[in-house]
Formats: sequence, structure tokens, C-alpha cells
Amino acid sequence: MPDERDVVLVIGAGPVGLVATASLISHGIPAKLIEATEDLAQDLRASTFHPPTLDFLNKLGIAKKLVEQGLICRTWQFRDRKNGTIATFDVSLLEGETDFPFRLQCEQWKLTAALRDYIEKHPDGELITNTKAEMVGQNDKSVWVSAKKVDGSVKKFKGRFLIGTDGARSIVRKSIGAKFDGMTIPEIFLVLSTNFHYEKAISDLANIAYISDPNEWLVLLRTLSLWRVLLPTNPDHTEDFIMAPENVEKRLQAVVPSSAPYEVVHKTAYKVHERVASKYVEGRIFLAGDAAHINNPLGGMGMNGGIHDAVNLVEKLTKVWHGAPLETMGRYERQRRKVAIETVQTQALKNRAILNAKDATQRLAYHSELREIVSDRKKHKEYVMKSAMITSLRELEKVD
Ligand SMILES: Cc1cc2nc3c(=O)[nH]c(=O)nc-3n(C[C@H](O)[C@H](O)[C@H](O)COP(=O)(O)OP(=O)(O)OC[C@H]3O[C@@H](n4cnc5c(N)ncnc54)[C@H](O)[C@@H]3O)c2cc1C
Repeated sequence: MPDERDVVLVIGAGPVGLVATASLISHGIPAKLIEATEDLAQDLRASTFHPPTLDFLNKLGIAKKLVEQGLICRTWQFRDRKNGTIATFDVSLLEGETDFPFRLQCEQWKLTAALRDYIEKHPDGELITNTKAEMVGQNDKSVWVSAKKVDGSVKKFKGRFLIGTDGARSIVRKSIGAKFDGMTIPEIFLVLSTNFHYEKAISDLANIAYISDPNEWLVLLRTLSLWRVLLPTNPDHTEDFIMAPENVEKRLQAVVPSSAPYEVVHKTAYKVHERVASKYVEGRIFLAGDAAHINNPLGGMGMNGGIHDAVNLVEKLTKVWHGAPLETMGRYERQRRKVAIETVQTQALKNRAILNAKDATQRLAYHSELREIVSDRKKHKEYVMKSAMITSLRELEKVD
């Protein structure tokens, strides 16, 4: 490792911090990645990879490994709980626009494991676990982090720049005084993973299906080994009640009745927020991923958008590292904040509105809009370009 100030410090080894670190070292910039926990998260979190994310990961030599470990989905659907398919979107219309014209369903931990391997094998990369950043600061030449080791000892790190990828409760965001305004979605999101074969029980079901209903919308997402069922849940219920096996069973039986009890392999319930940090850049300190923006998971844009942040940030930081003015980073904030607000948040909220519309006229209007889009090839492709997050990346050039 070079002089300790000649590195970029990255706080938080989720998918975004790992991509940022791997991208930095692939550009010849030494990086230290500091992670609070002992190991990388292994639980089921995001599972959708959009095509441009795979294009980026391909540059690190990781995309093909993921594709081998995931489920290629060439279509996805909006459905109605009572009336079945409303619109089936064809991601292969992206042929020629990307090397990966499909959505990949693959568990987030498979990505983080591959990136960890990449970083640990690289002489310029270092992953430091069991070390929780508590305070960060900077002057006009360097940055520092004060972190607590698991044994209670305090360790200081120094670097030239710092990237905060420490998730939704980011201490880096708080340290730079960024606000995190927005809203909390009223319902709790319950995600149940089961080995039940929904593809056999529901005719013409795509591997990714957003299912609207005025009383209880849901999402069915398939991975290689399981189906995940996402259900909105009453926030007045306690976590114990929501997670109780008999209540989970009732909810799954209401989706598709089964004579055998459901085997639930994994369950999580979480509150969902829609928030964007008031700034992503403060001097030599930058935010990316959930530390900078969080949104509902409808459309699978959280992790993907965070990875797109990391790639954009590192591209600009590489220029600054080699002598471009620090102000270059301002464009990172202008470009990626705009995407978080105008694309990710807007689309995620629209997806929720389509799913949970209660008014019959409004529901029919949404359904006709979706049917009309898939019946017109140009509109269909435009929609798929947008939902695959390609449009938001191409439009970045227009932002100075
Ligand atoms: C429990 C859970 C379930 C989810 N389920 C879904 C889902 O079903 N679908 C979906 O699309 N998205 C889901 N998400 C969201 C998705 O996982 C995130 O959008 C994605 O992980 C963002 O990546 P990130 O690297 O920005 O942040 P994170 O993945 O949150 O990573 C942040 C990392 O920083 C570390 N850290 C935090 N504070 C410090 C500190 N002070 N010092 C050092 N390290 C620190 C954390 O331990 C963590 O490893 C889920 C998230 C969570 C937390």
C-alpha cells in the first residue's frame, strides 16, 4: 500500500462501496474500504440487475459470473390480481443497446462476494472489516476517519478523498450536514421467500410480476432457487404479529391456495422511505448509493441506481486524482441527484400508484395506458429503455 494519504477511503462495503472500490483500483487508484460488520451481508436484499448495471460490471469482469449464477428474464409483467396479465414487457427489445438485453434475477450477496474477491486479489485494494466509522472530517488537502474497532479501540485513517457508501443511516451524510428530506411510505413491505412454484400455479406468469389490486397489491419475483413474494402490510401490526408463521401462511394462502403448507425459507419486513440527500458532495467527501438516496423497491432501482452513482463518481474522481479541479465533482452531484429525484423516485412512486390505485376509473386508465404502450413497438421500446435505466444514463450528458 502507498502512503496512507495517497488513497481514497470508502466507508461501507455494501454493493455500492464495493463497486466504487473495485472501480477505483481498476483505474489505478489505491482504495481502502472500511466496513462496520465482520462479514458482508448474506441475507436476501435486492435481486434485480438491470442491463446497464451488467454492462458496467462487465468492465470489471464480473457480469458473466453473475449471469451464470442468476436467472435471465427476458420479460416482465404488470398484472391484475383478478384479471391476469395487463401488459408483458419485452426486454429483448434492447438488443443492440446493451450487451445484456434482459433483467437478471440474482441475489445481491452473489455480487458482493464477487467484488470482495476482486478487491482482495488486487494489490491496490484493501477491505477492513469490524471497523465502524464514527466521525469523518477534512481539510483542503486530505480527509480523515475516526473508527471504532470491534475490541473498542479507536483507529484513525487518512486519505485524499472519502466516499460515503454507508447506507441509509449514513454517518458520512450526517457529518457533511446533508439533509435527508422526503417521506415514509405508510405500509410495511413484507418479503417472503418460498420454494412454492408460482410459475406452475399461475398461467403465463413472467419471472417478474407486479400485480395490482385495490385491496392488496403484490410483487412476485423469481430467483434461480426461490420465488419472493412482496406484500404491503399494516404498519399498526407488531413485527411479531407480521412474522408469526400462522399469519405468514394465511397471507400466502390468500395469494395462491395450496393444499400443503407453504415452506418459507426467508422473511423480512421493513419500512420504506423516499428520500434524497440535499447534497452529494462536500469538498473532498462524496455520497453514493443508499447513503445518498432511498426509494421503494418497485422497479428494482435502488441498488442499480447506487451502482450507477459509483461508476459516475469514480469516473470523475479519476480525473481529479490526475489533476482536474475538485469542482469537477459538482457535476457528479448535479447528474446523479437529478436521476434520483426525476427518474428513480418518480418511477418508483408511479409503479406503486399503478399497483395500489383504489379508484376504479383510475385503475382502468393505468391499465389502458400500459396496454397501449406494449401494443406500439416504439413506445414499448422507449418504456423498456426507461425502466431498464438506460435512458437516465444517456440523458446525463445534457446535465452540465
Ligand atoms: C434488510 C434490507 C432488505 C432489502 N431488500 C431489498 C429488496 O428486497 N429489493 C430491493 O430492491 N432492495 C432491497 N434493499 C435495498 C438494497 O439492498 C439497497 O438499495 C442496496 O443494498 C444499496 O447498497 P449500498 O451499498 O448503498 O448500501 P448498503 O447495502 O446498505 O450497504 C451499506 C454498508 O455500510 C456499512 N456501514 C454502515 N455504517 C457504517 C459505518 N459507520 N462504518 C462502516 N461501515 C458502515 C453497512 O454495514 C453496510 O455493509 C434492502 C435493504 C436492506 C437493508
